[in-house]
Amino acid sequence: AMHDDGWHRVVLKLSGEAFAGGDELGIDPKVVSYVADAIAEAVGQGIEVAVVIGGGNMFRGVELSQGGMERGRADYMGMLGTVINCLALQDFLERLGVDTRVQTSIHMSQVAEAYIPRRAVRHLEKGRVVIFGAGLGAPFFSTDTAAAQRALEIGAQAVLKGTQVDGVYDSDPHRNAGAVRFDRLNYNEVLTRGLKVMDATAVSLCMDNGLPIVVFDLMGQGNIVRAVRGEKIGTIVCP
Ligand code: UDP
Repeated sequence: AMHDDGWHRVVLKLSGEAFAGGDELGIDPKVVSYVADAIAEAVGQGIEVAVVIGGGNMFRGVELSQGGMERGRADYMGMLGTVINCLALQDFLERLGVDTRVQTSIHMSQVAEAYIPRRAVRHLEKGRVVIFGAGLGAPFFSTDTAAAQRALEIGAQAVLKGTQVDGVYDSDPHRNAGAVRFDRLNYNEVLTRGLKVMDATAVSLCMDNGLPIVVFDLMGQGNIVRAVRGEKIGTIVCP
């Protein structure tokens, strides 16, 4: 029902991959600028927006560990990479006059506040954008799981996952021209069919707590504002 009335507080999950634009590594300022503009517009409409950013444009723990690195250390490299993305988004938002705070799960007091849930909520209530970095601060998790956990802890009504595809399909739409897109799914369908929404840890956390997930095309014109406003877009996974 909340979906029809629009959201009041959301967590926007941005993949690190998107930040790289067409490149494989690094940060494309055009992308970050585009995302910041949209977030500024949504915040201007009074919606409380927290952001979780991935680190796929820097390091992924699994990939580094396949190259022989110890998994835990590799995952910490991955988490640190997400913080670089957070600072980039913070800079673009502040240049637009949007107040922001970066809160990280790994302490680094020169660059960011520590993650303090009640303080995060207070920032949001004041109209600030809170950007959560370093995932959950623990190896073997993903930033998708961090987005779901943060959403639950700060009382957000949905996790909005901006990706490179415009929703969830029954098969890979890049490989299969007949792939069918879902408007709406329940968590069990996602898990049993192995649909690519979020990793199973993240999906089951949302399932256990009835937290809706919206998957949408991040770079589609106007999409971020529509998703944040709770308009119908992409695929919604809900109870
Ligand atoms: N990571 C982690 N714990 C967390 C979140 C992230 O260990 O709670 C590490 C993990 O190695 C992951 C990397 O950080 O591969 C980057 O995050 P993710 O792969 O979720 O980024 P995305 O795919 O969204 O760009």
